[in-house]
Amino acid sequence: MTGERVDAWLARAAGRLAGAGLDEPRFEARLLLAHALGWSAESVLRHASDLLSGETLRRADALVERRRRREPAAHILGRREFWGLEFQVTPDVLDPRPDSETLIEAALAEIGGRDAPLRIVDLGTGTGCLLLSLLSMLPNATGLGVDLSAAAVEVARRNADRLGLGDRARFRIGAWGEGVPPGCDLVVANPPYIPTAEIDRLQAEVAMWEPRLALDGGADGLAAYRSLFPAIAGMLRPDGFAAVEIGAEQGDDAAALAAASGLALRRRVRDLGGRDRCLILALRASGPKKQLEKNGPPSRVVA
Ligand code: GLN
Repeated sequence: MTGERVDAWLARAAGRLAGAGLDEPRFEARLLLAHALGWSAESVLRHASDLLSGETLRRADALVERRRRREPAAHILGRREFWGLEFQVTPDVLDPRPDSETLIEAALAEIGGRDAPLRIVDLGTGTGCLLLSLLSMLPNATGLGVDLSAAAVEVARRNADRLGLGDRARFRIGAWGEGVPPGCDLVVANPPYIPTAEIDRLQAEVAMWEPRLALDGGADGLAAYRSLFPAIAGMLRPDGFAAVEIGAEQGDDAAALAAASGLALRRRVRDLGGRDRCLILALRASGPKKQLEKNGPPSRVVA
């Protein structure tokens, strides 16, 4: 079939996407067609009566088929917007969620002026979205993103370059605090926190397509925090702080684990849906001295 009109294709594709149980079929149909055409979603709407060529139809229909199999839109489009910035997304990294923008807001609220030469570390950086969003707001800050996955580090580095932040961001492959020097002003992290047994009950896009490494928090969902919090305590400056994402029900348990690592809870932050989403943590008053003795004085080597 050739020459199907844009509006007719959109209606047909939306019907097929709705049939696969997607919540926003018309919106998604528009994005997929825009991707097949290399246009913006707005241009698609402005050209409702244009005719689509056979080649475009084949490409666009194939995208709809992928989405019907619940492949995440961000994987199909290869990108996701976060904090108003465009991030490249692959199956090797967690697809950035709007909920995680809560961390960025909360961290910025803790920082007085925007001009300080802060040293930021992002543990489990994935796309790099937390680190790079912060760097985009803090013109004199520098940062280090760490991830266990070499493929994720590649994605994060590309995102830094594409966003023009490559000169202020470094990345390294490693486990949580591995190789990160002390003396950080701000540590951010969105660790895996889904209890293993719950992953397969999540929506298909997540359960079937997203990297387990970025989701799986062990039997109780808290495994990552047990390594992460001591690592954070070892890298923060005495007056620094951390913003760490948590699952909605994990606030109390995560705060207790943080306390056991010498981190005091400064604030618990909710997302726009009213669920606990982020802990703001700082070294306990008695913590810094011990940490500094253990790790030596703050150094400037981050990034
Ligand atoms: N918020 C993500 C989800 O619910 C999980 C991210 C994570 O484990 N860090 O799918």
